[in-house]
Amino acid sequence: MRAYIRSAMPDTSSMPIPGLVDPVPTPRDVTPRRDGRVDVLGLPRTRIRELFSRAGLDEKQAKLRAKQVYHWLYHRGAISFADMTDISKTMRPWLEERFVIGRPEVAEAQHSNDGTRKWLLRTDDGHEFEMVFIPDADRGTLCVSSQVGCTLNCTFCHTGTMRLVRNLTPGEIVGQVMLARDSLGEWPKGKMDVSDDADETEYRADGRLLTNIVMMGMGEPLYNFDNVRDALKLVMDGEGLALSKRRITLSTSGVVPAMARCGEEIGVNLAVSLHAVNKEVRDEIVPINRKYGLEELLQACADYPGASNSRRITFEYVMLKDKNDSDEDAHELVRLLRKYDLPAKVNLIPFNPWPGSIYECSEPARIRSFSNIVFEGGISAPVRTPRGRDIDAACGQLKTSALKKSRAELDREAEAAELAQA
Ligand code: SAH
Ligand code: SF4
Repeated sequence: MRAYIRSAMPDTSSMPIPGLVDPVPTPRDVTPRRDGRVDVLGLPRTRIRELFSRAGLDEKQAKLRAKQVYHWLYHRGAISFADMTDISKTMRPWLEERFVIGRPEVAEAQHSNDGTRKWLLRTDDGHEFEMVFIPDADRGTLCVSSQVGCTLNCTFCHTGTMRLVRNLTPGEIVGQVMLARDSLGEWPKGKMDVSDDADETEYRADGRLLTNIVMMGMGEPLYNFDNVRDALKLVMDGEGLALSKRRITLSTSGVVPAMARCGEEIGVNLAVSLHAVNKEVRDEIVPINRKYGLEELLQACADYPGASNSRRITFEYVMLKDKNDSDEDAHELVRLLRKYDLPAKVNLIPFNPWPGSIYECSEPARIRSFSNIVFEGGISAPVRTPRGRDIDAACGQLKTSALKKSRAELDREAEAAELAQA
């Protein structure tokens, strides 16, 4: 147990992401808290079992306890070992002493008058990130963050003005879903001491509010591939949170080399932040385009494992006045999607301005005209209705955090100073 205790803060010293992407700090999967206890949230069952046996349980006990704890964590939403009533009374304090069940801390929670909810969350080492829940008539979508900040600098995105602080761990990613279920009261109701083999319909909540997940919060999920994959595996596991992969969408700005892996190893729906149809404009507003160009990106979409007419790829397109919103752009979009024979739908997103942003949203009539052209080209192109505007709920738009504002400002100042020196 003690062997795991390295320092009070997550150890980010020696974990560059291997391979194709720039190294970003990634805490180890097992980083003890300040009190030395290890957070089991976000760990696969085999890892929990391993930790239990290292802490002193024999193999058989470790296996049994890991199975029970896993079930309580993901099926029942337990946040304390004391609630795990089918585990012996002496074992519960033993677990409590050594392990902890984490949830991101809620720094702030807001409720919009259209039902949208937004949370500003805080990691154990004090970094803030956000999560948004958007209820609709037939579904409830949770917008989940993958990083604190982002290494990319899309010019219309508020997150892009923040420097990347660090990747979120699998526990912090799956922890967002757990926290949303806590807040929505969506864990099985009734007595907590129903045994494993009881009829699940006795205690399963009906009419769930949280039905869909989109990896569209802060950060670029494919630059935190392993942690996002491990978290989503827990979300999709039938014995875990049991949400179908068809109800999960991962949005990428176009990290081409990781897209095939995303289809193969995670298998969720893909959304691509296209936002422009020619090199010049996309290079400017989505700068990763300079590394992986449009043609390469669209080819990777055409090759995306699992994409089909019943599982189309969503192309996100933010409507920026006089930048990417002309009729010619719309025609070119249709031409490109046809050229690559893509099973596609286009999501037109009215630009959500933030203080200091250099763009304006396109006029409603312009957006309608753009949408009509894409529709006439045989591709669905709905305009996304802005939600939770009164609480700035669009992803990357949380303005209320004084801390975050000052950090973004500090980053800009640091960059300006560096440039002045150069
Ligand atoms: N990094 C990933 C996922 C997070 S961003 C990506 O870029 O796809 C989620 C979506 O919100 C992206 O399509 C992004 O381009 C869009 N977005 C960011 N800032 C926005 C703004 N100010 N107004 C409208 N959409 C925005
Ligand atoms: Fe990062 Fe996505 Fe924002 Fe671009 S749009 S800066 S990739 S979060």
